[in-house]
Amino acid sequence: MSPDPKRPGRLSGRVALVTGAASGIGAGIAQGFAAEGADLALVDLVDESAAAPVLDAARGLGARVSYHRADVSDEKAVRAMAAAATDTHGRVDVLVNNAGIFTQSLLEDMPVADWDRVLAVNLRGTFLVTRVLIEPMPARGWGRVINIASQLGQIGGTEVVHYCASKGAVIAFTKALAREVARRGVLANAIAPGPIQTPLLDAETPAWRAAKLAELPIGRFGEVSEAVPTAVMLASDDGSYYVGQTLGPNGGDVML
Ligand code: NAP
Repeated sequence: MSPDPKRPGRLSGRVALVTGAASGIGAGIAQGFAAEGADLALVDLVDESAAAPVLDAARGLGARVSYHRADVSDEKAVRAMAAAATDTHGRVDVLVNNAGIFTQSLLEDMPVADWDRVLAVNLRGTFLVTRVLIEPMPARGWGRVINIASQLGQIGGTEVVHYCASKGAVIAFTKALAREVARRGVLANAIAPGPIQTPLLDAETPAWRAAKLAELPIGRFGEVSEAVPTAVMLASDDGSYYVGQTLGPNGGDVML
């Protein structure tokens, strides 16, 4: 990899793949990476026209951008997506597993289908995408995997056992992976944001949101722009000594 003199930045010359990039935190990370000089392979469930605002914003920053419609929980679709992204860009240096879903119900009312789907997207998806895209990284001696977990995976929360289980598992997955690959130049870390204003937060019930707001030390929900710098740092050489960590732009919801 050599930096692109026409697009200087902390990620100049890098290729990043971001899942769940059509909305919310993923869209913000895509834009933040493009602003730092990265080219992008963006992945989401929606068709390309629905992702157009994110693609256009990144292209407006000079990035070479490809879009790949895929369900991260579908092994065949993930393999096809990874092959297409690698064909287009030559390689993927930075992987951000951001796609995630959220539903709400008490454990005793939770449909098994909700449990299965949340685990399938949030955890199985992280495994499937990482497995296929990390494979060539050690041979190049450089790679980054950034898994978007959640502070709820650290402290739990009512009506979200499936989500908390999936995100706690993503944190454990990240630590285990980091131990496997760090000596080969591939650094895996997690980000566990607190409540951030996105469509996912809008899916929470008003009562749940009010209770969370009341207990948050900072007294407000976060903006996407307050989570993005952590991802940029971890993806860049500024993150060269972070291994298996869980970083928390969370408004104080978790203090370690
Ligand atoms: P968001 O705005 O809903 O964005 C998530 C994106 O992922 C959406 O575009 C969604 O597409 C996509 N997606 C869902 N299932 C997918 C699948 N199977 N394959 C590919 N893409 C899929 O939510 P967000 O708040 O930005 O969340 C991003 C990540 O941050 C998630 O992992 C979430 O758990 C985590 N997080 C969010 C918060 C928060 O408060 N917002 C806090 C902590 C952690 P559709 O819209 O079509 O479903």
